[in-house]
Amino acid sequence: MNYETVIGLEVHAELSTKTKIFCDCTTEFGGEVNTHCCPICTGMPGVLPVLNKKVVDYAIKAGLATNCEITEFGKQDRKNYFYPDLPKAYQISQYDLPVCKNGYIDIEVNGQKKRIGITRIHIEEDAGKLMHDEWGTGSLIDYNRCGVPLIEIVTEPDMRTPEEAKVFLETLKSILQYIDVSDCKMQEGSLRCDINLSVKPVGQKEFGVRTEMKNVNSFRAAVRAMEYEAKRQIEIVESGKQVEQETRRWDDVKGVSYAMRNKEEAHDYRYFPEPDLVPIVINKEWIEEIRKTLPELPNAKKERYIKQYQLPEYDAAIITSSRTLAQFFEECVESGANPKIVSNWFMGDLMRILKDNNLEPEEIPFPGQYIAKLLALIEKGTISGSIAKKVLEVMFDEAKDPEIIVKEKGLIQISDESQLVEIAKKVIEDNPQSVADYKGGKEKALGFLVGQCMKATKGKANPQMLNNLLKEMLNK
Ligand code: ADP
Ligand code: MG
Ligand code: ZN
Repeated sequence: MNYETVIGLEVHAELSTKTKIFCDCTTEFGGEVNTHCCPICTGMPGVLPVLNKKVVDYAIKAGLATNCEITEFGKQDRKNYFYPDLPKAYQISQYDLPVCKNGYIDIEVNGQKKRIGITRIHIEEDAGKLMHDEWGTGSLIDYNRCGVPLIEIVTEPDMRTPEEAKVFLETLKSILQYIDVSDCKMQEGSLRCDINLSVKPVGQKEFGVRTEMKNVNSFRAAVRAMEYEAKRQIEIVESGKQVEQETRRWDDVKGVSYAMRNKEEAHDYRYFPEPDLVPIVINKEWIEEIRKTLPELPNAKKERYIKQYQLPEYDAAIITSSRTLAQFFEECVESGANPKIVSNWFMGDLMRILKDNNLEPEEIPFPGQYIAKLLALIEKGTISGSIAKKVLEVMFDEAKDPEIIVKEKGLIQISDESQLVEIAKKVIEDNPQSVADYKGGKEKALGFLVGQCMKATKGKANPQMLNNLLKEMLNK
């Protein structure tokens, strides 16, 4: 039998507000343990929380960017659970009246467009961090993260493959970064996702029993976890047994997931309205004020790049997937570079250098204008394309203006004809076999001779001139 996978995601994003959700402690990542806390975020008796308005601003912004309805009358609720990472023994979250609901995000997988429903986006507080067994005698707790504001984005079970879920996550991440509500650093836990997954025979309407997987901390891990879980569930169903509804933990090192606990139901949490906080009333003016702050979003930017700069769809998608990369691209173009040539450099050498050095676009150490300058040097004939690739590498190492690098390293292209003739002469003398081959009709031999001249000049000879010169000399 053929099976289909059904996936719904719950994504937590830490908001990049300066202060926590109910107190004025800093949200900064790291820091000496237990120094970013106060009586409020450590849940001391008798303290009162006050909602940080920015948290609601950011949640509205996220809702508008994902086509949600904004709830005009919302409230916060206590979700009770006893675990030392949350000293109050409850988390302030939102139960039935979240800030946003009924939205969607459009994704594109292998050229196919698909709409993924957003069920809701609610605000809540993050918990502290437990460090187990580092002392051998027990667990330690760092409350710095306790009370950092989160939005939880819950999707409809609309995804059918791990690939779709991965593209959804990438698209969501890029939207959240564009609107500046979260830095989405997965390695710092600013973006975390739980995966709900079930399987069913293709064509069957009813969904199967789902499991929820936690502790997935990279997109790559998410895909592996989903593939593993789908396979595990299919095997259970095939053997005539039933999938248990449970929460599982993904171990990315071992590449397996294991059961953590039976799935809790909402009633296990004894939700009730948070009595210490007033309702969240959001009027039209507030929503419109936030709407005005929305930047051009990745999809719109992509469409514009295709229209305005005639970029291939694939290139436009990659460049606009990161707000920083798109800004960088626009800086180059505004400095007068040809958009298509810039795009080729981005897709080729720039991406390669980023990947090889494991760098994020935010870590590019020079401004976009420098790429425009580099391209201008090629256009003016000051350097060749192959030298430009080397200059780009140096720009990453030294963060210097390409004009300065070219001067300092003596990389200026040799375009002096008499100098090139000398070099060509020597190469012709040294390679009689290739010369004979060329004269005998082997066009390829010319390429070899050009290559030898380039080698002799460490890549500095003007390749176009050299090509013409060699042809002329050989055809004499
Ligand atoms: P809970 O509140 O218990 O976590 P929800 O109904 O809110 O449960 O669903 C949580 C997530 O599980 C959502 O992202 C939803 O899309 C997804 N989901 C629900 N049912 C299924 C299913 N049968 N298969 C896969 N995902 C599912
Ligand atoms: Mg859940
Ligand atoms: Zn505090």
